[in-house]
Amino acid sequence: MVDLYGQYRKIKTEVDAAMQRVVDEAAFIHGGPVSEFATALAAHMGVSHAVTCASGTDALQLALMALDLQPGDEVITVPFTFVATVEVVELLGLRPVFVDVCPDTFNMDVTKIEAAITERTKVIMPVHLFGQCADMESILNLARRHHLYVVEDACQALGAQVTFSDGTVHQAGTMGTIGCASFFPTKNLGCFGDGGAVFTYDDALAERVRSIANHGMSEKYYYDSIGINSRLDTLQAAVLLAKLPHLDEYICARQQAASLYNEALSECKEVLTPVTTTFSTHTYHQYTLRVEPAKRELLRSRLSEKEIPTMVYYPQALHLQKAYQHLGYKAGDFPFAEYLTKTVLSLPMHTELTEEQIQYITQQLKFNI
Ligand SMILES: *Cc1c(COP(=O)(O)O)cnc(C)c1O
Repeated sequence: MVDLYGQYRKIKTEVDAAMQRVVDEAAFIHGGPVSEFATALAAHMGVSHAVTCASGTDALQLALMALDLQPGDEVITVPFTFVATVEVVELLGLRPVFVDVCPDTFNMDVTKIEAAITERTKVIMPVHLFGQCADMESILNLARRHHLYVVEDACQALGAQVTFSDGTVHQAGTMGTIGCASFFPTKNLGCFGDGGAVFTYDDALAERVRSIANHGMSEKYYYDSIGINSRLDTLQAAVLLAKLPHLDEYICARQQAASLYNEALSECKEVLTPVTTTFSTHTYHQYTLRVEPAKRELLRSRLSEKEIPTMVYYPQALHLQKAYQHLGYKAGDFPFAEYLTKTVLSLPMHTELTEEQIQYITQQLKFNI
């Protein structure tokens, strides 16, 4: 599904030197590269603040902790996402309220949001799934009208760009009140372990996130709030600092692979290729097809016999998971999310895919479906 070693090999000299410097200086925590990376990342994103932390999951948790929320406050999000989005809401005593997704883009259906807003709603938390942004302009307009915060889960979409109707272009993770990124090795910008970041234009909010990520500390051994320990370690920051200048080319490589897939599969009636919107670019964190549910598992096993890996992101909607039964949802509540769990099929997608590999994968797919 990915080729992390292949990607590393191409920039081995830079990355090795960066890691060696950290080891030589033995500044494993809060070493120079951590703040250097935060500054470079904020500049790359064109946002005032990038606060680094230990993972994308922590970024989401920190974002919610930094907002002025009370237990029982409601967070509107989607049931078709990676579990981290919803897990952090629950961990903070907040209540996830789901709205369904669009069957073609896999992202939050903005026409369903208003009906889900109650007195207790405080946050809308869209997920930019598989690398393409949700309809942020509509979400921001709704949020403004109802005085809600917007927390973007941009963990899969770093580098995606949204064009608003006034022509302005915005980076994924920088449009909401606060945005969250992950540097998990397979993400658009991956380190060699765990890492994450939070983006905001709000100086006070950035300061709160920074403090909460450091045990809620204001000055050394004085604590203003209850925090957590969440830091990007220096080795990961050094790797990310070396990789950041390559992010744009990584995204181009994904987009190129996607367009080769699209072309090769355009005549294949049995699969639906990813749908792109007019407002967002697609970074293809995943290249996700839709196939007839009855055909999916057989296709997967036939491709597997040909040594072609495939994945199902995600096989179960969150409202139907055992862990989230207490929310009181039932099968049928979010028909598109449920249908997608039976329909989606992700093909190998990474920066090192060759034209030959894509030809082989698509030939075998067409032959075996
Ligand atoms: C990867 C991911 C996360 C969590 O990121 P980690 O760095 O693995 O903690 C959260 N949300 C989504 C949508 C993700 O894909």
